[in-house]
Amino acid sequence: MTCSNSPTEELFERFSRIQIVDQRTVGRVWSVRDITDSRVAEEALRKQSEWLRVTLASIGDAVVTTDTQGRVVLLNGMAQTLTGWTQDEAQGHQLTEVFQIINEESRQPVEDPVALALKEGKIVGLANDTILIARDGAETPIDDSAAPIRDDKGQIYGAVLVFRDIAERKKTEEALRGSERDLSNLLAALKEADQRKDEFLAMLAHELRNPLAPIRNAVEIFRAVGPPVPELRSATEVIARQVHQMTRLVDDLLDVSRITRGKIELRKERVELAAVLNSAVEDSRPLIEKLGHELLVTLPPQPVYLEADPTRLSQVLSNLINNAAKYTDQAGRIWVTAERHSDHVLIRVKDTGIGIPPEMLPRVFEMFTQVDHSLERAEGGLGIGLTLVHRLVGMHGGTVEARSDGPGQGSEFIVSLPFDEKVTDQEHRTPISDHRVVATPVTLRILVVDDNWDAAESLVILLRMRGNEVETAQDGLEAVAAAGEFRPDVVLLDIGLPRLNGYEAARRIREQAGDKEIMLVALTGWGQEEDRRRSKEAGFDHHLTKPVDFATLEELIARMNPGRLE
Ligand code: ADP
Repeated sequence: MTCSNSPTEELFERFSRIQIVDQRTVGRVWSVRDITDSRVAEEALRKQSEWLRVTLASIGDAVVTTDTQGRVVLLNGMAQTLTGWTQDEAQGHQLTEVFQIINEESRQPVEDPVALALKEGKIVGLANDTILIARDGAETPIDDSAAPIRDDKGQIYGAVLVFRDIAERKKTEEALRGSERDLSNLLAALKEADQRKDEFLAMLAHELRNPLAPIRNAVEIFRAVGPPVPELRSATEVIARQVHQMTRLVDDLLDVSRITRGKIELRKERVELAAVLNSAVEDSRPLIEKLGHELLVTLPPQPVYLEADPTRLSQVLSNLINNAAKYTDQAGRIWVTAERHSDHVLIRVKDTGIGIPPEMLPRVFEMFTQVDHSLERAEGGLGIGLTLVHRLVGMHGGTVEARSDGPGQGSEFIVSLPFDEKVTDQEHRTPISDHRVVATPVTLRILVVDDNWDAAESLVILLRMRGNEVETAQDGLEAVAAAGEFRPDVVLLDIGLPRLNGYEAARRIREQAGDKEIMLVALTGWGQEEDRRRSKEAGFDHHLTKPVDFATLEELIARMNPGRLE
């Protein structure tokens, strides 16, 4: 130790290092031996131990050391506090007396970690959920480890145990677990509410669809035989347009609820883009014309064939074109452009309309999002059209993106769909023929079965107006009986019928008809693949979803056996 002491201090220092080793009197002189060097070493050791003691006392963790027999050598302050033993009391005691630990759940003693560390010669962690029982019986949850102490040669000469009070941490963990539980309960409740909402939407759409069929039929009757009063004619067209719009909304609602529940299947086939676009434009034409917009369609020179569901793709495009028309003030301009690239086709629908603020661009595809909630626009909506577009394009393996330079700057929606150029070019160009058969006036015996009287009645009037002989029935059993007596050529059968459902009624009617040729058409609100499969199994020839387009029905009936009736 280097120091710059004064001579007196040095002397004192020197004397203090002189130890009396022999008290025999030699004359009057004490026999003394200078042990300065060993005093220095001892002092260093003392200081080192002091330093160690202070360090251990300052540590926030509890530290206990033992000898190789597991007897306590040292307890730091924290260890004394947690165990309730003082250093003097504990010293020399077996650790298991001082450090009593049990498992929190089983309340059984936990194996002494020091004994284990000494036995295995390596660091061991305490088991989870360990409780330390202090001398006064107080319990503290603890956590930590024990390790063997080795000398320079690697010889074990004791063990050190370090542990800490984890009561606070446990509380926090418990609180965290509690909030996790709350959160997952909340999530489950939200999920359930969301599912109920989806089910409700599906049911709502389905129920709203049913009344639309008779209204559409009634409109057809008015168109055909309504008095030639101009006001009535224009009123009929108003109803026709509004029913068309309502059917569209209800169908969108139904579709979006089916898509969210994963209940829509695509019926993909090889389709030509131009044909799909054509049908979309036709669908949107009335609105475009009404608002006086100019529509410019540009297609690539070569035909583009896609693997797609034509109805769904047309729905995507007509939704975008309709929006372009809706969100553009009168006499605007709409461009629909298709560009062919090597592995994808881009379809752009651009308008000169009200535009979309930048912050709304990423959100317009979310369900029920509407930029402007004011009800001033003539053509309202539910905020689900773009959700449908997004999902349907995604189901086709494509993407859709919205662009706009801001309010008043117009908008552009870009749909990208994958396609295989090679396949497309090898493809034979099959002319797109209009499969619609012009309905020939035929006289058939038709049985209409529906428990919705309005639906049945309006259909009956329309069919009679075409010269058919028509009978009705209102439930399944009545239908089977009527079919037996009336021996119809065609049966238009609702599926959800009282007393006997449509599937079973169809089976019995088919059986009862024997060899007689009879066309069974299911008219139902449900148009899923599964519903179609079931109706096919039951012996139906066709499956039409409500509200049935009368022209489609007429076309089916006309196709039944054109030769027979010519
Ligand atoms: P909506 O039934 O309201 O038309 P959509 O899902 O089709 O629902 O569209 C969501 C919202 O996106 C619309 O309410 C409208 O604010 C905005 N939007 C959609 N298309 C356009 C467009 N071409 N121009 C401007 N805004 C549009």
